[in-house]
Amino acid sequence: MALIVQKYGGTSVANPERIRNVAKRVAKEFDKGNDMVVILSAMAGVTDSLLRLAAEMAETPDRREVDVLLATGEQTTASLLAITLKNMGYPAISLLGFQAEVVTDCNYSNARIVDIGANRIKTLIEKRNIVVIAGFQGCDADGNITTLGRGGSDTSAVAIAAAIKADKCEIFTDVDGVYTADPNVCSKARKIDKISCEEMLEMASLGAKVLHLRSVEFALKHNVLVYVRSSFNEEEGTMLVNGSHDYDMERPVVSGITYSKSDARITLKKVPDQPGIAAKIFTPISEANINVDMIIQNTRAGGQTDLTFTVPKTEFKRALEIERKVAEEIKAEAVWGDEHIAKVSVTGIGMKSHSGVATKMFSALAAENINIIMISTSEIRISCVVEQKNAELAVRVLHTAFGLDKE
Ligand code: ASP
Ligand code: MG
Repeated sequence: MALIVQKYGGTSVANPERIRNVAKRVAKEFDKGNDMVVILSAMAGVTDSLLRLAAEMAETPDRREVDVLLATGEQTTASLLAITLKNMGYPAISLLGFQAEVVTDCNYSNARIVDIGANRIKTLIEKRNIVVIAGFQGCDADGNITTLGRGGSDTSAVAIAAAIKADKCEIFTDVDGVYTADPNVCSKARKIDKISCEEMLEMASLGAKVLHLRSVEFALKHNVLVYVRSSFNEEEGTMLVNGSHDYDMERPVVSGITYSKSDARITLKKVPDQPGIAAKIFTPISEANINVDMIIQNTRAGGQTDLTFTVPKTEFKRALEIERKVAEEIKAEAVWGDEHIAKVSVTGIGMKSHSGVATKMFSALAAENINIIMISTSEIRISCVVEQKNAELAVRVLHTAFGLDKE
C-alpha cells in the first residue's frame, strides 16, 4: 500500500471518454489499497481559448482577473473527474487550489508556490477519500487566486507530493516518457528509462516540453520520486533519479538533444571597450524584468568590441528599444536584432568526466554546413545558437553523432 500522486495533462482529460479512462486508472490503484491524490490540468486547448477570450475583452487584460479566469479550466476537469468517480461508487472529492491550501506569491500568471498546508488533504486521505485537486492554481496570502505559469500543473503535482510525503508522483501525459530528442523532429529518438533530476532540469529549461521546469526543481529539492508516463498505455515511462546513485555507469555521455526557438538575439556593434559598459547595457534590461540568457563579447582592436546577447522572443521588441537608447548613450555604432535563431543543446551528466563533447558537437554541425552563431556551456550541457531554419536538422545530426539513434 502506498500514497500515490497522479497528475493527468490536458490531452489525458480532453473529453468525457478520456476522463472516464482516467477515472478507471485511478480506481484501479485505489482498489489495490493505495491512497490516491489526483492533480489535473484543464482539457487540452481550454487554457488557450480562455486567454483568447480575455484578449477580446481588453488589449492588456487585468492580470488578477486573467488568473481567476484561467483557474476555471482546472476547476472544470477536477469536478468532472470527481463526478465520474462518485458515479462509479468511489469516495472522491474535488478541491480547488485554495482549498488544498496551495499558497503562492502574488505574481499573477507566473506565481511560485511558497507553502502547501497538507492537513486537509491528509485528513481526507485518512478517511479513504480519493482527493482530486485542480492543478496550475493556488492563492496568495491575501486570498487572491493565482496561476503557476503555462504547464504549471506538473509543479502542482510534485509540490503536493512533496508536501504530503507521497511514495511516488506519476505524471501522465500523451507521450511514453522523456525522449532523447523530440520524437516529432527526430524519428530515431528513444525513450529514456532513467534520467537524473539534474539532466532533466537542464533539458526542461532548454526546450524539452515534457515537464514544467519548476516541477523538476521541486523533485530535486524535496527528493520526490517522479515518473513520466503515458495515460494511453501501460508502459513503464521514465523515472527521475535523484543524485547519481542507483545509476547505470555504462550510460551514454550525452543523454539528450533539445532545441528551443523561443529566444532572439541582439547585437551592439562597436561598443567602447571600457569598465562599466556591460552594466550600462544590461541594467535597463533587468530593470525591465527581461531575462538575458546567453552573452558573448568579442575583443577587438581599437578599443571597441561587439556584444551579443539573447532574450525571450516575447521581449525582443522591448529589449531592442531599450538598447537603441543605450547605444546612443554609450556611443555604440549600431544595434541590430535577429529573431530567426534557435538554440540547440546537448545535455549529459557524463560530460563531467568526458572531454571532447564540444569538439564532437561542432564537427557534427560543421559536416552539415550549419553555422554556429553563439556557444555557451555548463558542466553538463553545451548549447549552440544556430539559424532557426537549421534547428531540426541540427537535432537529428547531433542525435546520430552522439550515438543516441535507436536501432
Ligand atoms: N492548463 C495549464 C496550461 O495549459 C496548466 C497545465 O496544463 O499544466 O498551461
Ligand atoms: Mg504539460
